[in-house]
Amino acid sequence: MSSCLCLPKKKEGPAKEKPSTDTPTSSLLQNQKPSQPPPPPSKASSKGMDPTVERLKSGFQKFKTEVYDKKPELFEPLKSGQSPRYMVFACSDSRVCPSVTLGLQPGEAFTVRNIASMVPPYDKIKYAGTGSAIEYAVCALKVQVIVVIGHSCCGGIRALLSLKDGAPDNFHFVEDWVRIGSPAKNKVKKEHASVPFDDQCSILEKEAVNVSLQNLKSYPFVKEGLAGGTLKLVGAHYDFVKGQFVTWEPVGVHAHSSSFRATPID
Ligand SMILES: [Zn+2]
Repeated sequence: MSSCLCLPKKKEGPAKEKPSTDTPTSSLLQNQKPSQPPPPPSKASSKGMDPTVERLKSGFQKFKTEVYDKKPELFEPLKSGQSPRYMVFACSDSRVCPSVTLGLQPGEAFTVRNIASMVPPYDKIKYAGTGSAIEYAVCALKVQVIVVIGHSCCGGIRALLSLKDGAPDNFHFVEDWVRIGSPAKNKVKKEHASVPFDDQCSILEKEAVNVSLQNLKSYPFVKEGLAGGTLKLVGAHYDFVKGQFVTWEPVGVHAHSSSFRATPID
């Protein structure tokens, strides 16, 4: 089974091939002033247009006529704000969109998707992007549930389990990111040492979720919400090979060091 994020074989020469020589400022300026203006959004220009762009436009048109225009009761209230019940962490893998697999409607889930669906520990310098999303979801939107969803055949998890101590990284970001799940990797390596690699990956997909659930508790506003009973954490795993979805709640203070009790939904 191919994975969603296969790490390429180690390249010859420098791993980081094309570090940008632009300063952040010059990059921003370039973005503001593209050398060529974007094509006008007229119908005439659509003929002969890039099919990848056409696919997006036709997809929106289908959504507009079949969903948006037919459900004003759903979309009208969303024009003035959102009040999602869930915050969802899911992998960026193209096969696991939670809105599709869980039938989540617009306005229902504030979603973060990243490599291997990981929640890093509280760190204002390294992980401000994730931290700001959690803070906004909990403090401003008052979500009731944060769910972290792992999935089958996750390339990020496979990459994590494949990492060798001391080996140089192939990517600028990926390895360092998936190392967030290192406590889970260490646990799986220790407790399931004799299990084949693919099976270790399957176990790690769930144990990494437990590490993320534990990491969520390092955010003061999450901790407060849990203590006050206004917030709940849920772990989940979507298996798109078997067509199964399981959920569990963190067990004990150190969730990642405990077993998870899964509730399967076929
Ligand atoms: Zn994945």
